[in-house]
Amino acid sequence: MKNNVWEEALFNLSQAAEAMELEPELLERLSTPMRFTEFTIPVRMDDGSKKIFTAYRSWHQDATGPTKDGTRVRPGLTPEEIKALSLFMSVKHAVAGIPAGGGKGGIKADPSKLSDGEYERLIRGFIRKLSPKGAFVDIPGADIGTGTQAMAWMLDEYEQITGFHSPAAINDKPAALGGSLGGFEATGWGVAACTMEAAKELGMAPEKTRIAVQGFGQVGSIASKKLFDSDFKIVAISDIYGAVENPDGLDVGKLMDHMEKTGSVKGFGGGREYDGGKILETDCDILIPAAVQDVITEENAPRIRAKLIVEAANAPTTPGADDLLSSKGVVIIPDVVANSGGAIVCDFERTQGLSNDYWTLDKVEERLNIRILRAYAEAREKAREKNVSMRLGAWINAIGKIRSAMLLRGWC
Ligand code: NAD
Repeated sequence: MKNNVWEEALFNLSQAAEAMELEPELLERLSTPMRFTEFTIPVRMDDGSKKIFTAYRSWHQDATGPTKDGTRVRPGLTPEEIKALSLFMSVKHAVAGIPAGGGKGGIKADPSKLSDGEYERLIRGFIRKLSPKGAFVDIPGADIGTGTQAMAWMLDEYEQITGFHSPAAINDKPAALGGSLGGFEATGWGVAACTMEAAKELGMAPEKTRIAVQGFGQVGSIASKKLFDSDFKIVAISDIYGAVENPDGLDVGKLMDHMEKTGSVKGFGGGREYDGGKILETDCDILIPAAVQDVITEENAPRIRAKLIVEAANAPTTPGADDLLSSKGVVIIPDVVANSGGAIVCDFERTQGLSNDYWTLDKVEERLNIRILRAYAEAREKAREKNVSMRLGAWINAIGKIRSAMLLRGWC
C-alpha cells in the first residue's frame, strides 16, 4: 500500500508514463500541480472569539480546460491529499472526455464541531479568500464535508463579490440556483451503466448474475437500485453497521425504504443477517466496492470470487491486490472510469449554466450513459492495444490526451 494518496497518484502516473514512454519533461510537469495555494480563513465563532482555519486549492493542469472540482472539509486534511485529488481529477476529466483540467480544494476543519452559522461563515470565507475567477478559469464544487447548501453559499458569496449572476461559476449547487438535475444520482448511475456494459461483454445474463455491494450510501444505493431495476440479482449489501444477504436477490427498493427509516441495512426483513466483514468474499459474479479506499488487499484478494469488480469507491483496490486479481483474470473497471458519472454531470451543470438551457432528468441520464460508456470503451480498447489492465489503459488514454493538449499549446 502506498503511504498516502499523493504517492498513490504518482505511482499510477509513473506506471502510465512508463507504458506510453512519456517524455521525462512531461512526467516531471505532471508530477507537480501547476499551482498550489495554502491560505487561512479567519472565522468569527458564536462565542465571539476568532478562529483561524487552514485552506488549500490545487490546480493540477489547465491545458485541457478550466480547472474544476470539489472542496473537501475534514479535520485531518493534508496538502498532499488535495494535490493528489487534483491530479486524479485531471485524469478523470480526460478519461471521460470532459474539456477541463484538474482542481481540488479543501479546508482543514471538522464540520460536526461547528454550528450552522460558523460553518456558513467558514464556507463563505473560503470563497472570499480564494477569489475564484469563474466558469472559464476554475470552478469549485462539493466533496466530503460539503454539499448543495455549502455550494449555494459559495455561489452567493461569489456573486456578491463580482456583482454578476454566474451559475456556471460553482458546481453541485441546488437546482433552484441553476444546478443540474441528476447530480445526486450521477455517480451511481454511471457505476450501473459500466456494470451492465461489462456484464454484457462477459456474457452474464442479468437475471442469472449475482452482485455483492459494499456500502449503501449515495453511490452504492443508487447503483444497486438501477441494477435491481434492470433484473440483476443483488445478493448481498453491507454498510458500516452490518450486512444483509439473500441468494434469491434482495428487493433494493424495499431495502432503501428500510434504510431511510433505520439508517442502516441491518435488520432488513427481506434477507438474512450477514457478516459485513465477508462482503468482499461473497460467492457472486460481480463485486461493487462503494464504501472506502484500500479495502481489497493482497490479504483478501485470493478469496475474492467475483469475475468482475466495478470500483465505485475511489481507490478501493491496493496495487498489490490489483496485480493479483488481474493475474487471475478478474476484470476490474477502475475508479477513474466507473465513478466518473459525478464529474460528467458536473460538466453538464456548467454547460447548462452557460447556455441557460436546463435539461430534463431523462436527458441528463441519456447523455451521461453515452459519455461514460465511451470512456469505458476507450479504456478497454487502450488496455487491449497495450496488453495492460483497464486501469492502466484508462490512465494511458488520459495522460495521452493531456500530453496532446500541452504539446499543441507549445508548453513542452
Ligand atoms: P456515503 O457516505 O454516502 O456512503 C458510504 C457508505 O459506505 C455508507 O453506507 C457507509 O455506511 C458505508 N461504509 C463506510 N465505511 C465502511 C466500511 N468500512 N465497510 C462497509 N461499509 C462502509 O458515500 P458515497 O457518496 O456513496 O461515496 C462512496 C464512495 O464513492 C467513496 O469512496 C467516495 O469517495 C466515492 N465517490 C463518490 C462520488 C459521489 O458522487 N458521491 C463520486 C466519486 C467517488
